[in-house]
Amino acid sequence: MNLTVIDHPLTRHYLTILRDQTTQPEEFRNAARRLTYTLVLEATSRVPLHKTEITTPMEPTTGYALGNVVAVAVLRAGLGMLDAVLDLLPEVGVGFAGVQRDEETAQPQEYYAKLPDLSEASVLILEPMLATGGSLSWACDKVKESGALDITALCVVTAPDGVSRMYKDHPDVRIVAASHDRELNDQFYIVPGLGDMGDRLFGTP
Ligand code: URA
Repeated sequence: MNLTVIDHPLTRHYLTILRDQTTQPEEFRNAARRLTYTLVLEATSRVPLHKTEITTPMEPTTGYALGNVVAVAVLRAGLGMLDAVLDLLPEVGVGFAGVQRDEETAQPQEYYAKLPDLSEASVLILEPMLATGGSLSWACDKVKESGALDITALCVVTAPDGVSRMYKDHPDVRIVAASHDRELNDQFYIVPGLGDMGDRLFGTP
């Protein structure tokens, strides 16, 4: 399986805040941003670097510059991870993929897509809740059509169905997550999960 679960005390701490049903939207957004920092470090661990010659106050030396990295936020919950990515990678290009799931079939329905040039780019797809995998698989199709070099998905929580679907549809895509949860319930929510990520970020009922 192409899944890496981050086993770090800070990741667990912020995930606990996200899972707690009493956490209010402002604290939820802060915890989502802070947890995402811990995912970005691992998700970018294979990003290509190129050498660059610089001079310290002491002498010339060799440094490293990041290759082309693009973040694609899957709307709307992926917005909760975007600030952390922009903090650590301020030069990153940003795309948006709007997909909503049909509540009865749980299949993804596209309503918006705007991607920057992805040719030769390392792409980070921000999809916090990997439930059935339909939205992420659709987003990977879109990103691949645009010529991405390699793709890593950043998830807060994954479910077995979503990870299996991704392994089947996109075995080349790495998934970095804070937790791999037990299962989906009959409404396709992850359990124990954290509820509806978009609603909890933005305080919608
Ligand atoms: N999307 C969410 O926001 N939560 C889930 O549990 C599953 C999908």
